[in-house]
Amino acid sequence: MEQTILQLSYLIGSITFILGLKMLSHPDSARRGNLVAATGMGIAIFATIFLYKDHEGNPLGNYPWIFAALIIGSVVGTLAAKRVQMTAMPEMVSLFNGMGGACAMLISLIEYHHNPTPSTGILLVIVLGMIIGTVSFAGSIIAWGKLNGKIKDKSISGAQVINFILWAALLSLSVMLIGGYTTESWVFYTILILAAVYGVLFVMPIGGADMPVVISLLNSFTGVAAAFGGFLYNNPVMLTGGILVGSAGTILTMLMCKAMNRSLKNVLIGSFGAAKVGVAGVVKEQGNYKEISLNDTATLMAYAQKVCIIPGYGLAVAQAQHACHELEKLLEEKGVEVTYGIHPVAGRMPGHMNVLLAEADVPYEKLLEMEDANDQMSSTNVVLILGANDVVNPAAKEDPSSPIYGMPILEVQKADHVIVNKRSMKPGYAGIENELFFKPKTSMLFGDAKKVLQDLVSELKQV
Ligand code: NDP
Repeated sequence: MEQTILQLSYLIGSITFILGLKMLSHPDSARRGNLVAATGMGIAIFATIFLYKDHEGNPLGNYPWIFAALIIGSVVGTLAAKRVQMTAMPEMVSLFNGMGGACAMLISLIEYHHNPTPSTGILLVIVLGMIIGTVSFAGSIIAWGKLNGKIKDKSISGAQVINFILWAALLSLSVMLIGGYTTESWVFYTILILAAVYGVLFVMPIGGADMPVVISLLNSFTGVAAAFGGFLYNNPVMLTGGILVGSAGTILTMLMCKAMNRSLKNVLIGSFGAAKVGVAGVVKEQGNYKEISLNDTATLMAYAQKVCIIPGYGLAVAQAQHACHELEKLLEEKGVEVTYGIHPVAGRMPGHMNVLLAEADVPYEKLLEMEDANDQMSSTNVVLILGANDVVNPAAKEDPSSPIYGMPILEVQKADHVIVNKRSMKPGYAGIENELFFKPKTSMLFGDAKKVLQDLVSELKQV
């Protein structure tokens, strides 16, 4: 009976996870989707704790340890999620992803420790789970440091050769261990260390604007590593969850590669942008840029027929999404058609701008994907760029030596007027100059996005 309830709760856990994931695909149902999946997982976790029996019929036991860890984890997780600034969200997601990888690594370590001479099949699952989990853990920690600016892009001389040697060593040691050519435990621990070193070296040189691809790739690694854990414990929820995360992460990785217009191989071995970013920090002589006043901006927008707002990372930094929505509503009241052009890698995490604007209740239908926004650009009177930089940089189309060359961009120059709001002439994430700011159609509107938008709303009310 108990085992039937346990299997039933695993089924509930798996179904709610799938339903929750489906609901996450629309902002209206996303919050509920999260809750549905979390409830299902909660049921599966508690059912495991109280009903699981090993093959000798022993319950899990260790309850004080389990509950102490559960309480500490829940408190830390809840506080971190509640307190995190919206701009630090990508870092937190990266860190949490790393924790998933670390769990998979620990599962493999513990299972190997329990039984250092398992069957070939089990050993294969243990070793693969450990390598992928460790690479994900180490890589995610580096990604976390890069996103919050603590770790700088570092091109490592001979990185490709080092990575090749690491791969060769990992492969040969794994074959030795899994194939039964050795039972020495140092081989296992050496694999662990090499995987950690590889995780660091693999993410370290990736710079420029390629981080979104790496982040989604690490995400899929964690899913795959968790699925291996599901195999080990014969646990269907872990398996379903792991496979879903793994496949969703893989699809996202492919979409991100498409968004950047580059192959995964190119991202991984090309160390895209890393070497050039340092040079790009040097400001080239670009000519003059012109500024526009708040009053002129308000007039230009009020008399436009079509306005396209391009949000970027700076909008999230300024927490200006509500002010932005207010501006959009005011313009619509004046009969102006307003849309948002969303670049797939704008911000610092996949879907960042969608989440940000949904938080301010911007209607989902107003958000145009990059291709659709570009189709409408030539019939747009005013483009208002709010804290975006790399995603509108024409160098991606025009300058083959640029580290972002080849990345599709929002083609704002096709519109009649381009207004760029940012605080200074400083570069964006890729660390490169943006010629758009010096083009004849472009006017700069300097200042913090929130303050500028609030002032713009006041000006518009007077027009
Ligand atoms: P960028 O990082 O290119 O530019 C953001 C701009 O916002 C800066 O130039 C900055 O200029 C401005 N800014 C910062 N704070 C404010 C503020 N308070 N008010 C107004 N402006 C502000 O952002 P994009 O969104 O255009 O591009 C995203 C970049 O991040 C791409 O290179 C992408 O590859 C990368 N990335 C994306 C990830 C993803 O998954 N989406 C993950 C990791 C990296 P100033 O300082 O002068 O104000």
